[in-house]
Amino acid sequence: MGDHWEQLLDLSVDEAGAEERLQEVRNWLRTNGWTKADPDACKVYFETRPADAFGPRTGDCYAFVAKRDLYHAGDGAGGPVCRRCGTELPLMSVISRISDWDQGGAEPLLTCTECSWTALLGDWKISSCMAVAHLASLTTPGRTSPTR
Ligand SMILES: [Zn+2]
Repeated sequence: MGDHWEQLLDLSVDEAGAEERLQEVRNWLRTNGWTKADPDACKVYFETRPADAFGPRTGDCYAFVAKRDLYHAGDGAGGPVCRRCGTELPLMSVISRISDWDQGGAEPLLTCTECSWTALLGDWKISSCMAVAHLASLTTPGRTSPTR
């Protein structure tokens, strides 16, 4: 048993365009009844952004995040894969550094054990277990807002 939420990540937007895309998506969701403004909704996950409550078409809340961040797939267990040579680093060998980043530290810089390619974790192939995005919409279906 554990927490459950849905994550919608926009991997096509970069940091410079994230805030504008956030406004476009949030306005579209509100205009079409998927969300409504609710500053007290869903502050559990992202204190820096006001969350929206689900609109008349749904039943809970969304949170929007416009900054580079790490998102876990939940069920994946693959390690980061080198974009130069395809070597997969064992997930357990980097998990403490990922955890440090997840707790507010800096994004880890990883070096491939086979070809010495070095890049930030989010630039490795990591889709088997996580994603890095500049814009996300997070929902918690079935969870009641703490203020309700
Ligand atoms: Zn490599």
